[in-house]
Amino acid sequence: MFHNESSQQESRHNTAITVAKFGGTSVADYQAMLRCAHIIKNDSSNRLVVVSASAGVTNYLVRLSQESVPCSEQAEIIANIRAIQVNITQHLARDIEQHLNDEIDTLLAQLAEQALKQSQQYSVKQSDAILAFGEQFSSRIFAEVLQSVGVDGAYFNVQQVMKTNSLYGKAVVDIEQLKSACDEILAVELSQRVLVTQGFIGQDGLGETTTLGRGGSDYSAALLAEALNASNLAIWTDVVGIFTTDPRITEQARAIEEISFGEAAEMATFGAKILHPATLIPAMRQNIPVFVGSSKEPEKGGTQIKQSVESNPTYRSIALRREQTLVTVKSPAMLHASGFLAKVFGILAKYELSVDLITTSEISVALTFDNPSGSTQALLTSTVVQELEQLCEVTVEHGLSLVAVIGNGLDSAKGIGQSIFQTINDTNIRLICHGASANNLCFLVDEHDANHVVEKLHNELFV
Ligand code: ASP
Ligand code: MG
Repeated sequence: MFHNESSQQESRHNTAITVAKFGGTSVADYQAMLRCAHIIKNDSSNRLVVVSASAGVTNYLVRLSQESVPCSEQAEIIANIRAIQVNITQHLARDIEQHLNDEIDTLLAQLAEQALKQSQQYSVKQSDAILAFGEQFSSRIFAEVLQSVGVDGAYFNVQQVMKTNSLYGKAVVDIEQLKSACDEILAVELSQRVLVTQGFIGQDGLGETTTLGRGGSDYSAALLAEALNASNLAIWTDVVGIFTTDPRITEQARAIEEISFGEAAEMATFGAKILHPATLIPAMRQNIPVFVGSSKEPEKGGTQIKQSVESNPTYRSIALRREQTLVTVKSPAMLHASGFLAKVFGILAKYELSVDLITTSEISVALTFDNPSGSTQALLTSTVVQELEQLCEVTVEHGLSLVAVIGNGLDSAKGIGQSIFQTINDTNIRLICHGASANNLCFLVDEHDANHVVEKLHNELFV
């Protein structure tokens, strides 16, 4: 039954279409873009290209989108962005360079105007309009680079199909609308030529520009692949796939050839910063295999992520996420009482905080939060803590790292606890979560122990 269903789904795939997404470093300069253009040229199934902004551009735009940025700084940033883009266009044929630079300058003039307004009177709506410029530049330029290598590629404005709500900075895409717009507009054009479009951005019902959150281009590409019922999604980045652990921690880390959706989703959530955590959701819904590889070294292959894989080892990888905060809420009233947890979570929901790990005892609950400094996501602030304190006793601990051991059957295999914790018996484990998923076992350690723990575990479980 299950097999029939999935093979039916397979056959409904639009066999001709691969959606290829290139990240910021892959479109950082002319050489990088040229490599990507050859990737598209070498495989004619690549029909829709989704690009991020050239590396560094979105960071500049983030600064421009802030309050009270001095005029001189605005001008400097705009000049820097221009330099990144015209450094690429100068390698193209004279007339193409000229027309692209004209377009870039027109966009930059709009950007300058909006940045000035923003510095005088800040709004989140305007912030999104500013952030969206990066992908507007890179997609226009990349379409021309494709043309220059003989691929019939054209710019496509994703805002025609990527309709969202008005939650600026973190807009939610209307998947139904995307699907029908893709059928009506995009699919037709794609049958004629390769299209290059923007990741990360959308448009709300008022016609205003929205963004899907930092790193959101992967997610855009996955949503488009789903809507087009594509046969493949390729995420081209600057690493040759997903690794068994962060290669900066141990040189023993190696690229994984094949990994299941379930395992990869855990990895994306728990720290492997290769994919935006939401990327796999649309791919899983439509059973679209996802490839992750390096546009710099496409010949090295990469990682295939798919529904079922040939080998399902107990241990697949170890992810590490730093800057975790542990909050313990304690209330004697919780003893035999009901509704306490609902109140705690009610407060967290109000502040849009998402909880990662949870453990409980009779009268206390420990919760972890991803609390990275400089993040744009909702963070655990003193206001939240004070509100919790009205309900119960609250302890907050910082300086922790979350280690996630990812694999298969971790909830049922024998000796898992023994092999993991025996290996790191010189370390204090602050909290353990095990049993909720067959694909992961997570625990918290002191930040200072984190690298050592990962290295030791990797040596034990993978070498
Ligand atoms: N350019 C956006 C960012 O830097 C989106 C992306 O690259 O995925 O966050
Ligand atoms: Mg990215």
